Amino acid sequence: MLVTKSPTKTPSQSVLHQSVQFLKGVGPKRSETLGRLGIHTIHDMLSYFPRDYKDRTRIQKISEAKIGAEITIHARILAVNNRMARNRKYILEAFVTDETGTIAATWFNQPFLMNKFHVGDNLFLHGKVGAYKYLQLLSPEYEVVQDDETNIKDGGIIPVYPLTERISQTQFRKIMKEAVHHFANHIEEILPKELLVKNHLLPLDKAIREIHSPETFDALKRAKSRLVYDELLILEMAMALRRSGIKEETGISFKVGTNVDTHIRKLIPFTLTNAQEGAIREITADMRSSKPMNRLLQGDVGSGKTVVAIYAILVAIANGYQAAFMAPTEILSEQHFQTIQKYLQHSHVRMHLLTGNTNSKFKKDTLEQIRNGQIDLVIGTHALIEETVQFKKLGLVVIDEQHKFGVIQRLKLKEKGFSPDVLIMTATPIPRTLSITLFGDLDISILDEMPPGRPPIKTFLVTKEKEQEAYKFIQGEVAKGRQVFIVYPLVEESDVFDLKAAVTEAKRLQHNIFPDRKVGLLHGQMKPAEKESVMSDFKERRYDILVSTIIIEVGIDIPNATVMVVEHAERFGLAQLHQLRGRIGRGSEQSYCLLFGNPKTQESRERLRIMTKTCDGFKIAEMDFKLRGPGEFFGTRQHGLPELKISDLIRDFPILKQARADAFEIVSRDPHLTQITHQKIRQKVLETFKDRLELISIG
Ligand code: ADP
Ligand code: MG
Repeated sequence: MLVTKSPTKTPSQSVLHQSVQFLKGVGPKRSETLGRLGIHTIHDMLSYFPRDYKDRTRIQKISEAKIGAEITIHARILAVNNRMARNRKYILEAFVTDETGTIAATWFNQPFLMNKFHVGDNLFLHGKVGAYKYLQLLSPEYEVVQDDETNIKDGGIIPVYPLTERISQTQFRKIMKEAVHHFANHIEEILPKELLVKNHLLPLDKAIREIHSPETFDALKRAKSRLVYDELLILEMAMALRRSGIKEETGISFKVGTNVDTHIRKLIPFTLTNAQEGAIREITADMRSSKPMNRLLQGDVGSGKTVVAIYAILVAIANGYQAAFMAPTEILSEQHFQTIQKYLQHSHVRMHLLTGNTNSKFKKDTLEQIRNGQIDLVIGTHALIEETVQFKKLGLVVIDEQHKFGVIQRLKLKEKGFSPDVLIMTATPIPRTLSITLFGDLDISILDEMPPGRPPIKTFLVTKEKEQEAYKFIQGEVAKGRQVFIVYPLVEESDVFDLKAAVTEAKRLQHNIFPDRKVGLLHGQMKPAEKESVMSDFKERRYDILVSTIIIEVGIDIPNATVMVVEHAERFGLAQLHQLRGRIGRGSEQSYCLLFGNPKTQESRERLRIMTKTCDGFKIAEMDFKLRGPGEFFGTRQHGLPELKISDLIRDFPILKQARADAFEIVSRDPHLTQITHQKIRQKVLETFKDRLELISIG
């Protein structure tokens, strides 16, 4: 079904496809550095977008500082001074100057800032002007100017690129300037004119110029819209093409009679919820059909996805097929294995666990039995389809936590000669409106109802004054034999500073607060194997309290953990908080989520309040979706789609909707993109989905 290579390139394009070495200032060494950033051609260079901008359009003079007003200044540190006020609070003062005057920048209770500032450093400071004995900036936002940036005093909107240490912002900006100056005029429009007009989009070359050196924030906004539109249009084109492609495939038609149904239900020790019944109806309808199932089962942690999956698995096995169940990690595979084994103990299903820990003799036997069909159900990590596992008759694949796998894995299966039904489970609550748009090629079933009999988690906001009380409460829970998670936000995995804070906190908690309890530590810089071993130690109750800097594995089942403490809760997104809270409340005991923090803005107060009011993941997701700006909700990499370079699916949702409508419209009129006006789009889709062309039936 593959694609004929793109038509011969136009001269302009071949200019853009020249090596970056054609740019002034780029020799072999520099070009290697750029290569590591994925930049090989001039076209790549121009498509390497800033991750941020610095607003240097409004720098003021210290002499213009008015008490009570906000000001942004660029100044040099004359002296730094740390002292203790009478109320025993630290005050850190940096006296700074520009050529017009001096002012003291003052921070309270942040003694560690002492190490950040050095006499002679250049800073940008932004804050409110006050006066005590002298002119002050009160707790200003600060940014230490890197050496190589002293030359941007002249202001403007300065792009900041995602770079490595091998090349500085200044060097990179210089090369970019060259590229834009000499080559932006070679950029050709890819969109048909009517789309440009209809959606009020900037021409592509103009957008590229503006994204790298915006004249105004307004112009920047328009440039971004245009580039976001392009990116999302291409994504949605792939969705549209793929959906029409899947419709042409043939899969297995399973039989699901009353006999099978009765049989399966005997194995389920409780009454299914209405939501579970609904999902099972949808799944069996898919399985009966001759088109392959490609369904996402969405439901909060604890909503009972597993048993729905088991139903599907049993249908496949009853029809004489094999099933594979994949989890993102070994520990989760083992957990699923144990759970499923319990459900199936009175059945004849022959099931095996296959992980990296499986010893090689046993593994060899297992592989052999999978190959000759003696095993009906295999549970393991994604190694199941990636490695050498050969199935005799694979009919169904269940994938837990889709974000680690992505839709793309389907291909691997097809390469093995199968067109099995695929059921993907996820506990990430995604607002309905958004998921329909995002997973254009998946059908969706939703479990929006919890099984009876579990007390909902109680959530409280714990302010500074209430901390001791909270610790006492935790002591009480631990004394009852329960376990506790304490999570610290780590904005970036590489953030050494926050990491240190968490490590220090773990020590403090161990020594000062819980001296007679065992406190474990889990952080993002541990190797995966170390992380898993800490997790399983916790699971085996070798720790009472687990301090962690990372989001604890989705789906990890520790019924004995009844308390989740989230430090600096205001720094987490709602969806993340909800995910974290899902780590507890898995047993019949009452569980508690304690959100430590002092939300300062109206919005963060509102967010935390939502958490204390509801446990419904969809409600939370919907609110989050409404409340939030750009950010952490979830990345696209999770979905196995190409990484989005400039779009944010939430922030840019309106554009996404438009792009989707346009893409589906185009595909309905021109299903194989053969029309001349769609050639550039077609080429772009092919470039973007390079190694995943099988997804798309054009050509
Ligand atoms: P999820 O995978 O969605 O997080 P699970 O499938 O692990 O949820 O189910 C959570 C718990 O609820 C399990 O202990 C399961 O046995 C139980 N459970 C599932 N469905 C029901 C139901 N309809 N009635 C009672 N308990 C249920
Ligand atoms: Mg589960």
